[in-house]
Amino acid sequence: MAIQRTFSIIKPDATKRNLTGKIAAKFEEAGLRIVASKRIQMTLAQAQTFYGVHSERPFFGELCEFMISEPIVVQVLEGEDAIAKNREVMGATNPAEAAEGTIRKEFALSIGENSVHGSDAPETAAEEIAFFFSGLELVG
Ligand code: GDP
Repeated sequence: MAIQRTFSIIKPDATKRNLTGKIAAKFEEAGLRIVASKRIQMTLAQAQTFYGVHSERPFFGELCEFMISEPIVVQVLEGEDAIAKNREVMGATNPAEAAEGTIRKEFALSIGENSVHGSDAPETAAEEIAFFFSGLELVG
């Protein structure tokens, strides 16, 4: 497997509870390198665009309001098979179904307030990285 980059968000429920460092440590322990990182607060328009694929889902409004409720930490993670590895470290969307040792099992509050986002495919990873980071911020 080749070295890949993936996009991650430490979500409002986690930044609010001061879990940024603990979550970053999970990435690093799994062999993922944090090659870019910044703390921001999204606008509603940004959240609606970022989660546009879910616009028809019943939880869309709730999801966007949650994502703008507090600052988030957006990161680019790099490593061998990074997209799949990050999904593994994150755990299932619903923390009740997440495996032991995963971020969502340890830290998530609910299916909505589930502490982290991670890209699900190479195309979405590239799009999501470009949505939040300029080339100048990606030194590797
Ligand atoms: P992910 O790739 O594991 O993050 O999951 P999805 O792409 O299916 O969903 C995106 C995000 O929408 C999830 O991480 C949750 O924050 C939120 N979400 C998904 N399902 C629900 C739900 O049933 N209720 C609420 N409130 N939020 C949800």
